[in-house]
This record gives sequence, structure tokens and C-alpha cells, in this order.
Amino acid sequence: MGPIAIVSISVAVLLIVLLVVFYTWVLRRNRSRGRPGVISGSRLTCPKCGQSFDYDYIPGASLTSVRLGTSRYMSCPLCHKWSVFDLGTPSPVGPPPH
Ligand SMILES: [Zn+2]
Repeated sequence: MGPIAIVSISVAVLLIVLLVVFYTWVLRRNRSRGRPGVISGSRLTCPKCGQSFDYDYIPGASLTSVRLGTSRYMSCPLCHKWSVFDLGTPSPVGPPPH
């Protein structure tokens, strides 16, 4: 392995490290903004208490709910009862109708 190979490997490693640092920086920056692009918003209605609430979730990552395809088994933030919520038709989160 000559010096050119060592230099190009070092540059490649440096680029990967920069990419990872940039990626985590963008994620952290997005997260602190309140409504980042990686998080989808859904208007869900609880089948137990009938009240609707805005639910922000990160696709593929959640610690407080169980994924069931497009449905999610989680506890209602209003009545705290566990039920299945359908996330198949996410609606854009806007201001309340009233
Ligand atoms: Zn409820």
C-alpha cells in the first residue's frame, strides 16, 4: 500500500465522519424545531372515550406504542386506556376547527 492509497483512505474516512456528524446535527436541529419533517402528524380519535387528539409519531421508531402495520396499539393520552388506532389515513395537522 503506497502513500497515495493511505491518503485516499484517510480522506474517505474523514468524509464518512463528516457525513455522520452532519446527519446527527441535522436530526438534532430538526428535532428542536417542534415539528420536523421526519415526524408525521395524525389526527386520531380514541374509540374508548371518543375524543380526538393530534398524534406525532416517527415512522418506524416508537417506544410508547406497538406497531401493527398501519395500526398502532397505544394508550390514549386523554383517557389513558389502551386501544388500536388506525394510522392508515394520516391527515394534515391544522388548527382546530372551532
Ligand atoms: Zn381515550
